[in-house]
Amino acid sequence: MIDNHLIEQIRAANDIVEVIQGYLPLKRAGSTWRGICPFHQDTNPSLNVSQTKQIFKCFACGKAGNVYGFVQEYEKISFIEAVKKLAQRAGIAIPRFERTKRVNTKREQLLVVYQTARDFFAENLQRHGDEALEYLKSRQISPETAQNLQLGYALGGEKALLNHLMKEGHAVALLKESGLFGVYRGNVVDLFRDRLMFPIHNNTGDVIAFGGRQMAEGGPGGKYINSPSGELYTKGNELYGLFKSKYELSKADKALVCEGYFDFLRLWEAGFVNSVATLGTALTKDQIYLLARYTKNVYMLFDGDVAGIRSATRGAALCMAIGLSPFIVELPPDSDPDTFLLEEGKEAMQQRIDSALPLISFVATHPQVEGDARERIDLLLEHIRQNQDAVQRELWINDMSDAFGISTSALNSRLSSGRQAFTRQEPQSAPAEKPAAEEFLEERTLLILSLQSAEYYKVLATELNEDYFNNMQCREIYQWLVKHIDPDVVGSPADILSNIENTHLRDTLAELLLEDPQQLRFEDTLDQVKIRKLQRDLEMLDKQILSEPHDVGLLQKKQELMGVYRRMTRKVIHKLPY
Ligand SMILES: [Zn+2]
Repeated sequence: MIDNHLIEQIRAANDIVEVIQGYLPLKRAGSTWRGICPFHQDTNPSLNVSQTKQIFKCFACGKAGNVYGFVQEYEKISFIEAVKKLAQRAGIAIPRFERTKRVNTKREQLLVVYQTARDFFAENLQRHGDEALEYLKSRQISPETAQNLQLGYALGGEKALLNHLMKEGHAVALLKESGLFGVYRGNVVDLFRDRLMFPIHNNTGDVIAFGGRQMAEGGPGGKYINSPSGELYTKGNELYGLFKSKYELSKADKALVCEGYFDFLRLWEAGFVNSVATLGTALTKDQIYLLARYTKNVYMLFDGDVAGIRSATRGAALCMAIGLSPFIVELPPDSDPDTFLLEEGKEAMQQRIDSALPLISFVATHPQVEGDARERIDLLLEHIRQNQDAVQRELWINDMSDAFGISTSALNSRLSSGRQAFTRQEPQSAPAEKPAAEEFLEERTLLILSLQSAEYYKVLATELNEDYFNNMQCREIYQWLVKHIDPDVVGSPADILSNIENTHLRDTLAELLLEDPQQLRFEDTLDQVKIRKLQRDLEMLDKQILSEPHDVGLLQKKQELMGVYRRMTRKVIHKLPY
């Protein structure tokens, strides 16, 4: 375990606003910062970050914590990994002996496996990848781009990667689950053989999957194969190239979305660095939510043929459902972004992008969009209907009215006729359920106030015990606090949140730390909590007395408690200003 003092020091050296801005854009809103929460699907800035308290909190899904909690949650790593990562960011050395004790989660182990595989493939490309290098050359991909995107080559042998990873000390059991191998006649063999390898990164830059393009025509497994979904990777959740282009997406406030690896590489080489690729799938909801963190303007840059147009309009329509602004970049019917750039050049591409049509105009006018006017209108309405923003819906209906020459009232009546069927089919991502905190509000307030001063906290920890908390959530927090938090840490909200393994507890505690019930006094709230406890004790006692009416001890106890209760309530009543 790393020393607590060091954990505090590392946390203090990593400003939460700066760290989160490394992952997603934040905008200042008064005394706090806001952004699109990465922990639930949203396009509104529900994520609040307090620079003064060094805490974040999402008001939609409830996720909350300090800078460690954010990094942990975002990167799906352990607390110790997050500490290590932020120590490195701040240039603080962690003593070696403390580093060796960390326990790797399976996810962390798999990330190391993928990283090792990536390096192995990259090295093979230079040493044994003549054919693959030749192929890249023929497609006019420069060595710099290949290196930038960490391309590699998988050897032709059945166990080349397997043997390498085993030599590096990875357990066969883990490798079997990694998605890099198949079992053939009871034999574990490499999934990727004699292929040009494309590492697929998550948006923080870790390799989590691979795509492999066949070198020898007509070999087994098809032209492209991708890693299967697993612990690290879910098909349709990632965007190829995003780890490189995410800052450019927010800077340009525009994302160019293409389909394939080579489309991306070509766009990247030509300086269209605000691009991502969907990896052969249609644009999915998860991918759109990922894009939404960086920009709302999505430019679909798919193949110019009928299939490409179909796929682009479907993906763009989904963007409308989620609340983004989609455009379609039109390419000639026989071309894709890769060939178009090679044949026509950058300026021609820039012109195409500049003259991209908003989805509604494109669907209304382009001859290759499938269906007649009625079907096209339905395709758009079906997605507009799912958007929760009434103003946005009306703006789009106006656009549709202009584009199709149909009255807004006709469009609106068609929009609402299908509404019910759709809202049932597409439930909005509901915010995480909150346990009822309205009951025993004074317990919650007492915790909030106690966390604002060491003096109050001492009273809380010494005068009370867990029985004073009738609300289970408050009781849980009280138990955790007295076990883990010394009074001298109170006053530094972000430090209180370090090293809570129970994320639910952490979220709730962060919520309490962010609140400021200024009108309420600690002493009054403490009295209220004590009185409530007395009332409960008296009720219990009454029940016992009913079942054992002759027990004198019980009656005496009741007298005593009644005395305390009267004194306490009188004290409180005297304080009332009327
Ligand atoms: Zn959230």
